[in-house]
Amino acid sequence: MKKNKDYTGIDCARLVFALLIITIHTSPLASFWQTGDFVLTRVIARTGVPFFFMVSGFFLVSRYTCGNQELINFVKKTSVIYGIAMLIYIPVNIYNGYFQTSHVLPEIIKDIVFNGTLYHLWYLPASITGAVISWFLVKKLDFTKALVISFALYITGLFGDSYYGIAENIPVLKEFYGQLFQVADYTRNGIFFTPVFMILGGYIREGHNKLPLGINIAGFIASLVLMLTEALILHNFKLQRHDSMYIFLLPCMYFLFSMVLYYRGKRLANIRTLSLVIYIIHPLIIIIIRLCAKLMHIQKIITGNSMVYYLLTCSFSIIFSISAINIWNKYKPFKPKYRKGTDRAYIEINLDNLGHNVKALQKIMPEKCKLMAVVKAEAYGHGSFGISVHLNKNGINTFATATIDEGIRLRKYGIKGEILILGYTDVRRIHELKKYKLVQTITDWDYAKALNKQGICIKAHIKIDTGMHRLGIDVCDIEAVKRVFNMKNIEICGIYTHLCCADSLEPEDILYTRNQISSFYRLADILKNSGIKVPELHIQSSYGLLNYPGIYADYIRAGISLYGVLSSPEDRTVIDPGLRPVLSLKSKIILIRNLEKGESAGYGRQFIAERPSRIAIVPAGYADGIPRSLSCGRGSVLINGKLAPVAGRICMDQMAVDITDIEDARMGDIVTIIGAENDMAGAAEIAGLTGSISNELLSRMGARLPVVFS
Ligand SMILES: *Cc1c(COP(=O)(O)O)cnc(C)c1O
Repeated sequence: MKKNKDYTGIDCARLVFALLIITIHTSPLASFWQTGDFVLTRVIARTGVPFFFMVSGFFLVSRYTCGNQELINFVKKTSVIYGIAMLIYIPVNIYNGYFQTSHVLPEIIKDIVFNGTLYHLWYLPASITGAVISWFLVKKLDFTKALVISFALYITGLFGDSYYGIAENIPVLKEFYGQLFQVADYTRNGIFFTPVFMILGGYIREGHNKLPLGINIAGFIASLVLMLTEALILHNFKLQRHDSMYIFLLPCMYFLFSMVLYYRGKRLANIRTLSLVIYIIHPLIIIIIRLCAKLMHIQKIITGNSMVYYLLTCSFSIIFSISAINIWNKYKPFKPKYRKGTDRAYIEINLDNLGHNVKALQKIMPEKCKLMAVVKAEAYGHGSFGISVHLNKNGINTFATATIDEGIRLRKYGIKGEILILGYTDVRRIHELKKYKLVQTITDWDYAKALNKQGICIKAHIKIDTGMHRLGIDVCDIEAVKRVFNMKNIEICGIYTHLCCADSLEPEDILYTRNQISSFYRLADILKNSGIKVPELHIQSSYGLLNYPGIYADYIRAGISLYGVLSSPEDRTVIDPGLRPVLSLKSKIILIRNLEKGESAGYGRQFIAERPSRIAIVPAGYADGIPRSLSCGRGSVLINGKLAPVAGRICMDQMAVDITDIEDARMGDIVTIIGAENDMAGAAEIAGLTGSISNELLSRMGARLPVVFS
């Protein structure tokens, strides 16, 4: 595992920005220097809230998703915090006469949705609205379009904020903003203000800022100076209705946030909570300080000196927040540590090993040849979401699936780049091929004709049968291939074949494979000589690469090797790139039972204790992909590094293992059924025990297993 991965910089900066925001409400320089105070509280401190929005966006807004759960969680959590904050401030609202205005109800609704029920609380509803808008913009469009729209919203907001003086002089705009301000007091809200920052946060998260630290610092300083100039000019000409939004705030935040990201290290979760509590309670502290000063007749010393006033507010806010957090931690209901998804049986994915395999394969691929990640069958049981998103983020832009639905699912996860469907698709689904920009395999001549007839232009790769006799146009049927190239509605971007015995190093299989390869190249030459522009070629899947690494191709279709295992344990390959297994199948002991000699366990009484035995029950069964043929001692699992044989028949949802010889085995111990880190329980070995290959074992891993990342 890599160390120092967490965003320490973000955590520290949160605290700094929380204290900066307090300046807005206490004006620390006011007693000494008016302009300085304006610069600090109306310009510099205005970076605080956008920073928090960017942090939320950074962790929330991504084009990659597996449903809307993250958004729902964010909205729920923020709503609870907002609810608590509103309750805390009800006494203040009462004191202010808030509930005595004439249209109480509409005002309350407006405040809850836009303005916040106390001045600083607008941040929370703005987070919620902004998150929803940003989420859907990025989901429905791509980042660039989402940024353009959110920027347009921001500009709209700008003319109702610090540039209002201009809008006011244009009747249409004046009317527009007049209407707007009926509903919301400011344009600084979740619609106009928040989205651009949240989307910018997500955009940076996806690695779009690759500038070195020095450039980011320089960019920040330059934009800060420009923003100050902008603010002073606007202020001078009295154009500001409010002073939250500046044009140069955007580049300023972009560079600032990117700078903060450079500081990585330990996670400082407590500081995270601390900054939030400080943000919410500091106005309360302000009120209390003022009240105390009044009661003690020391207003002059305290509120009369703006710096003392600010420092006192900060100190008490910090002390109060730390105490509140400590009390909460002490008395909060005890919850034992629980790793989501690991309560029963689960798939554990090691993404570092996946990354390692990509690099190892790329190293042995010819130059300019690209890796096409084969992620069919839920990425061979590894969960196609996690695998394909990780690969896409790390520069893999070509994927292959077996079916159109698998391809569509990848698009819905947010995968960009080429997706080739290796199998058959009903021609009536051509609209979906087009809509999701999927590339279809031409499986034979009749299929090409039918597809062309649909009258919708799509991209395709032609598959050539060079001897496997499964899919593809016969390699000798040159006329048919040429005619497919000339079809009006099919844009051929690739041509490929599949080897059927590249895994074998038997001389006759090698000969067969070499013939497959040369007949494919011969076809390519003939096409070229007859004036057809030969598109990208691909031939090899995993074993093709490992046993025939030198041959020319534009792509390698890597499946099983990407996941770091061989098909069978006895397989030898010409090249050993040192692949590492990505998947483990794990569960845990949920019950231990002692059997007397002669007692039986499980269906059919197939396990009979030949000695007093300890049996552990493990909640994983054949519906989770564990082959039933491993029953009755044929297979074993790993517990504390030792092998425990399967006792009796494996059931649909659970199995028993004999732990008599593993004395330290306890309830709750992890049971490794397939192990990434241990050869004793390798996927190929286990598959071998059942007379199968790891490809089958892994791809049958049940759909109900949760995937967790190690
Ligand atoms: C599944 C598949 C692959 C991937 O094969 P591996 O041996 O797992 O690398 C490549 N090409 C085609 C046509 C496939 O169907």
